[in-house]
Amino acid sequence: MILILKNRILKGVVTRHIEPGLVRELNSTGLKLKALIRKKFGKSLHIRQVDTGSCSGCESEIISTNNPIYDLQRFGVNFVASPRHADALLVTGPLSKNMLVALKSAYESMPEPKFVITLGDCALDGGLFKGSYYIEGPIKDILPVVLHIPGCPPSPLTIIKALLDLLQKEK
Ligand code: SF4
Repeated sequence: MILILKNRILKGVVTRHIEPGLVRELNSTGLKLKALIRKKFGKSLHIRQVDTGSCSGCESEIISTNNPIYDLQRFGVNFVASPRHADALLVTGPLSKNMLVALKSAYESMPEPKFVITLGDCALDGGLFKGSYYIEGPIKDILPVVLHIPGCPPSPLTIIKALLDLLQKEK
């Protein structure tokens, strides 16, 4: 107990407040996204995420979009466990040879209409792993990708903004 108190006093506060500017930007982006999702889909947007060989950095940021700060669900975006329930496939990581069949199978299992998004530099062209014997190639050569979200990894706000950009462009 004394050790815990000592640690607490010596270390001070290790968390920080959320910047008000970030909250404002998040809320305004999220509300626009929510309105567009409602207009285009008439329901929530359901995303199935597939990791084809990531270092887990991209997944960490995707998970953060659903934490209590970003809370992406409140803007009508849900991550689902099965591609059969998904409108969009979100692919992360370099496309490793072992994941090629699973990725194609996930895409084929999705109901129409469906679309594919890649996230993170590795998903674009292999990123750090480009040229490796184990990498199949760019995901856009395998599936019809409509949006790439760049970054290594992209932040939660970047991800939310990219979704908004995509829906604003799509007729
Ligand atoms: S883009 Fe960066 S964070 Fe994402 S899987 Fe590749 S190395 Fe990891």
